[in-house]
Amino acid sequence: MDFRLTDEQELFQNVVADFVDREVVPVAREIDEKEQFPAELFQKIAKLGWLGVRYPESYGGAGGDAVTYNLMCEELARGSMSLAAAVAMQALMGTDFVFRFGTEEQKQRLLVPALKGEKIGTIAMTEPEAGSDLGAIRTRAEHDGDHYVLNGTKMWITNATLADFFTIAAKTLPDAGFKGVDLFLVEKGTPGLNVGRPIHKLGTWASETSEVILENVRVPASQLLGGQEGRGAALLRDILSEIRVMTGALSIGLTRAALKSSLQYAQERIAFGRPIIQFQAIQHKLAEVATRLEAARTLVYRAAWQIDQGQRDPKICAMAKLFASETANYAADEATRIFGSYGFAMEYDAQRYFRDARFLLYGAGTSEICRNIIAQELAR
Ligand SMILES: Cc1cc2nc3c(=O)[nH]c(=O)nc-3n(C[C@H](O)[C@H](O)[C@H](O)COP(=O)(O)OP(=O)(O)OC[C@H]3O[C@@H](n4cnc5c(N)ncnc54)[C@H](O)[C@@H]3O)c2cc1C
Repeated sequence: MDFRLTDEQELFQNVVADFVDREVVPVAREIDEKEQFPAELFQKIAKLGWLGVRYPESYGGAGGDAVTYNLMCEELARGSMSLAAAVAMQALMGTDFVFRFGTEEQKQRLLVPALKGEKIGTIAMTEPEAGSDLGAIRTRAEHDGDHYVLNGTKMWITNATLADFFTIAAKTLPDAGFKGVDLFLVEKGTPGLNVGRPIHKLGTWASETSEVILENVRVPASQLLGGQEGRGAALLRDILSEIRVMTGALSIGLTRAALKSSLQYAQERIAFGRPIIQFQAIQHKLAEVATRLEAARTLVYRAAWQIDQGQRDPKICAMAKLFASETANYAADEATRIFGSYGFAMEYDAQRYFRDARFLLYGAGTSEICRNIIAQELAR
């Protein structure tokens, strides 16, 4: 592997970093405490063209690659995980299926405005009784003439309260496990589609997450994504690998923020007549976090670079997510220790990093599921 950031990628990262320092870091705690979608910042990001960072210019995108998209996710997560989660969804899995499989009319009507922040897209796979085991989802898509009728309940759907269009996973073959899952484009306002109760969460308070209920939702067969039944599992496998890398990038951002605040606090806090950074026990914590951060960065950007080379590797993507998300949790845990009791106080950011780091453990495969994928790939 021969990977280093190009001048263009480095420049873009610096521009996003500057935006995050000026616009996000100062308000991150406030938007979290409001527990509302950070609409103003989201619109600023849309105006900068970053929602379309990985899409072609012909649809209003910036024509960037996976590395560039992940650099943006990393920097945003350094400032606010809630904002980063909303943007990451819109710029990848919320819109990707319309881009890849939508008709030209759907792309003009949904994707183009979505990249401008005028419409919101999301993906709905998880159900109350099935998350890791997507082959066990109960949402059904049944043929009815030249339509499908969808019935089921989705859970934990990011941005659902705001969404104008949903990529919905449903079973076309109920007894075929994961192979029986297909994906459907369903738009807001379709009779029978309802967004249910918002879920109160431990972290990412300003990223809205809700239940979605489908009761006899009729969609034309043209809204089966991929054009034919039986393609959903393969499409999901691809996007899940990309979501894993993105979650790794979010994890790097949070780890950097936790390390920076821990280092600063350790230099300022006096105990036994000296700054606590002079104690070897504290130095070792910082050294360990910094070492794991570098290792996580190498894995995540190797995975993203491979995607850009057309060599997406499910094992490396799972390793990147596993290692980086566990590193973020390690870093946030150590931060709350280095801060002593102030790590437990709502007026410091250490507690927010600790709560938001948990979010990174679940989406696109828990640590256990990532280990399963790595082991399966090893045994191949
Ligand atoms: C804030 C947030 C936002 C989310 N946004 C979305 C979204 O927008 N769209 C969406 O579709 N989903 C979303 N999710 C859902 C998320 O992807 C799922 O929660 C996740 O896949 C885990 O599923 P589960 O919660 O049902 O856990 P389960 O699958 O029930 O797992 C429970 C436990 O069992 C373990 N386990 C399960 N199977 C195995 C196995 N084979 N081997 C070993 N251990 C196993 C798991 O690792 C876990 O520890 C979101 C979740 C959160 C927290």
